[in-house]
Amino acid sequence: MNYENSLDYARKLDKEDSLAYLRNEFHIPKDKKDNDWLYFTGNSLGLQPKQTQEYIQQELDDWAKYGVEGHFEAQNPWMPYHEFLTDKMAKIVGAKPIEVVVMNTLTTNLHLLMVSFYQPTKKKYKIVIESDAFPSDRYAVQSQLKFHGVDPEEGLIEWKPREGEELLNIDDLEQIVEENGDEIALLLIGGVNYYTGQYLDLKRIAEIGHAKDCVVGIDLAHGAGNINPDLHESGVDFAAWCTYKYLNSGPGSLSGLFVHEKHAHNKDLPRFAGWWNHNKETRFNMRQPFDVMPGAEGWQLSNPPILSMAAIRSSLDLFDKVGMDALREKSEKLTGYFEYLINEINTDRIKIITPSEPKERGCQLSIQVKNADKSLHKKLTENNIITDWREPDVIRCAPVPMYNSFEDVYKMVALLKTLL
Ligand SMILES: *Cc1c(COP(=O)(O)O)cnc(C)c1O
Repeated sequence: MNYENSLDYARKLDKEDSLAYLRNEFHIPKDKKDNDWLYFTGNSLGLQPKQTQEYIQQELDDWAKYGVEGHFEAQNPWMPYHEFLTDKMAKIVGAKPIEVVVMNTLTTNLHLLMVSFYQPTKKKYKIVIESDAFPSDRYAVQSQLKFHGVDPEEGLIEWKPREGEELLNIDDLEQIVEENGDEIALLLIGGVNYYTGQYLDLKRIAEIGHAKDCVVGIDLAHGAGNINPDLHESGVDFAAWCTYKYLNSGPGSLSGLFVHEKHAHNKDLPRFAGWWNHNKETRFNMRQPFDVMPGAEGWQLSNPPILSMAAIRSSLDLFDKVGMDALREKSEKLTGYFEYLINEINTDRIKIITPSEPKERGCQLSIQVKNADKSLHKKLTENNIITDWREPDVIRCAPVPMYNSFEDVYKMVALLKTLL
């Protein structure tokens, strides 16, 4: 792209953007003088779609009107409510409907998936994660190791960037697995790294792991609604992601879970049980022996929180209307413009650590600022620019194609330049 560094040009890109109308479907937070914030933290908490209030109100109204009968009488009956989310969620991550369910929260789901897919033996018991894994994933994995009587120091293998580099090199993962594969039970990798924004080749990770009989799981928290991951094709065994980041479903909202079709009918996998993964047909007979449901639904435990699911439904309807392909196309252009403008600042004080190849990143850019401290982040915030600071010196910024504009990006970089 031949971008130009001017406000007029940014506005021209917005005018030509066929998805620009979507911004108006969201509540954009404002300052005291009614100016829109420049919101770059959709990777942390996505903004609220305006229609979400109606979706939740519908369930409140039906609860008021029908009480328990809402399970059957509500406009969107609560009994099968989670099923209303499945097809659209599956499309977003490139999965088949039988492979996806929405339930619980992310870390909880990682544990439930490890109950089934981390089956250590005396010889094959180690887990590989990225050295910069999200803390919750690291704690989850360490606690699973301990739970199975493995010393986490000994059982955890970290896939690290090379000396002096920030990004992971997949050849190094291959080498780790080639050398230690007989001892490795599980690879649990962030599909898009939360810190660097690097998007890894999921298919290649699956091939590397499976070549040595290791189970492969992916945390897609920073991928779902951001990149187009093609989970089914990738061949990974399982994945999980939250819905409050790029999927705009509200603070602490539920998680998506993927179990590959090849495991859908395996009733012998160890797993925890509750009434919601028991056969739908006989669930309410209440006196049946446990009969697990096929597919991802077979990992549910409880009847789900409808109010939170209503917010997810609202968001998924928006995603479905637009489609991930169109969003991705805009996203590459928007982030490309962001990258161009940052490079135009032309100072050796800043460095983008996110890959510059669009196929190897989503919308987020992680910008390292030499000799900066948190006061820079504070100054940005005082100027209505909402970003995320990671110690020691990185600003994470995610221009989200659903609601960020080219003008947002232009204004942000102009201010960053002034502050530097
Ligand atoms: C956001 C995020 C989490 C948060 O997990 P919750 O259980 O939803 O609190 C975990 N892992 C990764 C990689 C994340 O990005």
